[in-house]
Amino acid sequence: MSSALSLAVLLWTAAPAAGDWCYESNNTTCADPSQWHVAYPKCAGNHQSPVDVVTKETHYKSSLKPFTFEGYDRALNVTVKNLGHAARFDLPESGKVAVQGGDMTGSYKAVQFHLHWGADAGPGAEHTFDGERYPMELHIVHVKEKYRTLKDAMHDSAGVVVLAFFFEKSSNDNSHYDVLIGALGRVRNTNSNTTVSSLRLDSLLPQPEALARYYYYTGSLTTPECDEVVTWALFQEPILISATQLTTISQKLLTETGAPMKNIFRPMQPLNDRTVFRSRAAALLHRTPALWLGLLCVGGRAWLPE
Ligand SMILES: [Zn+2]
Repeated sequence: MSSALSLAVLLWTAAPAAGDWCYESNNTTCADPSQWHVAYPKCAGNHQSPVDVVTKETHYKSSLKPFTFEGYDRALNVTVKNLGHAARFDLPESGKVAVQGGDMTGSYKAVQFHLHWGADAGPGAEHTFDGERYPMELHIVHVKEKYRTLKDAMHDSAGVVVLAFFFEKSSNDNSHYDVLIGALGRVRNTNSNTTVSSLRLDSLLPQPEALARYYYYTGSLTTPECDEVVTWALFQEPILISATQLTTISQKLLTETGAPMKNIFRPMQPLNDRTVFRSRAAALLHRTPALWLGLLCVGGRAWLPE
């Protein structure tokens, strides 16, 4: 065997099998994020997600329109599945649930949503803001209206829009999340699934009038195969949830290996030559300095001029 060929064989056998990726590799059976690119080369691309948003370096873009939401107020029957690395909430194909906004043309329909979380109410979001990581991040995945599934949209660099919402700890439970938390308890093991009936997407989100402020950039899926086809909108207004609920969520599910499903977020990727834009009313996402916390709570963020 030539030395080049034996090296190739070595590299091949060292590479994890396709589909065999994870967030935390406590053994050698799965590839953690630093190794995803071995089986999924697109994960080593230059326009990957998530990123850290340095709010002072964001650019105001006047053409970014507010998002409009269609069908977000409809009662949906949602299928929930434990994928082994996350729980995915699949939206029904019938009936239109869609958004328009940003600088996109046309409508993008919602196909699924999922959450990224940490451990026991600790940091767990994927995108960070000036280095700060929220405890959880909601991704609502939309595809251009002409496509049926996320897979269909993968060849189109403008095929996918993901709306990202960030959770902030509150002393009160968010009762709108009880139904989701209950569903997670029914999909403890990988590949198990359940349904949630009569779920309204708008019940999970901040009030619509608070959604004019968002950051906007182009990047990738944050899981293999990391296709660089995603336009991201990161909303400034947080969703409030209690530490008890966050802790419960991070303890409900098991991964493929039977380990607790926690810290399911991809580490920060370099921004490289990209710019993060902000919409007309986007505010700095600075956390309130501790001194002001008692006085201002969530209202104390600094603002950038347009
Ligand atoms: Zn995600």
